[in-house]
Amino acid sequence: AKAGGGRGRIEVHDEALSDGDVDQLQLESDLRHAVDAGELRLFYQPIVALSDETLLGYEALIRWQHPTRGLLPPGAFLEAAENNRLTSKLGAWVLRQACSDAAGWDPGLRVHVNISARHLAEPGFSELVAAALEESGLESGRLELEITESTALFAAEATLRSVSEVTATGVTLALDDFGTGYSAITALHRLPIHTVKIDRSFVADVVTEPSTAALVQGLLQLGQGMGLEVIAEGIEDAEQATWLREHGCTMAQGYAFGRPAPLPAEPAVAAPA
Ligand code: C2E
Ligand code: MG
Ligand code: MG
Ligand code: MG
Repeated sequence: AKAGGGRGRIEVHDEALSDGDVDQLQLESDLRHAVDAGELRLFYQPIVALSDETLLGYEALIRWQHPTRGLLPPGAFLEAAENNRLTSKLGAWVLRQACSDAAGWDPGLRVHVNISARHLAEPGFSELVAAALEESGLESGRLELEITESTALFAAEATLRSVSEVTATGVTLALDDFGTGYSAITALHRLPIHTVKIDRSFVADVVTEPSTAALVQGLLQLGQGMGLEVIAEGIEDAEQATWLREHGCTMAQGYAFGRPAPLPAEPAVAAPA
């Protein structure tokens, strides 16, 4: 095993472990301490109205300020959290922090929080959401939980119960990465979905690939036909924004409007209507 310090360091004596395995184990071990050590951060990415770029709210996106590796994106550690049954600890921190941050914003702004499938199915999930709202004073209608299609596909009894308890309080649900799962339509039918978020892999090609354009038009029609809000994710340039606006999409998120960033020192204020 490599030399190097840090709390929670693990000794590895098995020669069969590769450097990558060791790194992974070290990461999982570090992650256990990250929440208590205050190393997790929430970045926020604006969600805007496509018509005039009015700010509607923010999506909370987790980052880990690792003591030696620097700022890590969720792709670098969320899987380690799932392996380690740290999902509920991480998820609880995210929910509480996001609700407390949002409670300080203009009351016209909503906050979106990503929820892992495993966490949603755990007992006590709806109580956690209620506690996060209660402690922060955030109005339930300002919180939207983002779940992925795979969550919906494997919707267990426990998941359905969590979802109905949470939505009964006024919290809304968004179906994230819409179009990439196997069960988009089933999910829309089975769960009380309020918003669909068209995956950025489609948005990326919408201007250049006719087949992707047709697909996105279909997703927009499906969402709108069911009376749902539709957010296009990952808009990076003005051409994509124009295409989506002209095809009836009203809400958007992407680098063209703002990258995920730490909260500004001044509380965010919604643009006047
Ligand atoms: P997501 O929920 O679909 O979030 C959108 C991802 O796309 C974010 O990546 C965001 O930074 C990125 N993105 C936004 N606009 C653009 C754009 O214009 N171009 C490009 N290339 N990318 C864009 P990020 O922050 O790395 O998060 C990745 C995924 O990790 C999220 O996908 C979500 O599934 C998961 N995640 C993030 N935060 C949390 C969390 O607090 N809890 C849980 N359970 N999952 C989270
Ligand atoms: Mg999301
Ligand atoms: Mg997404
Ligand atoms: Mg995505």
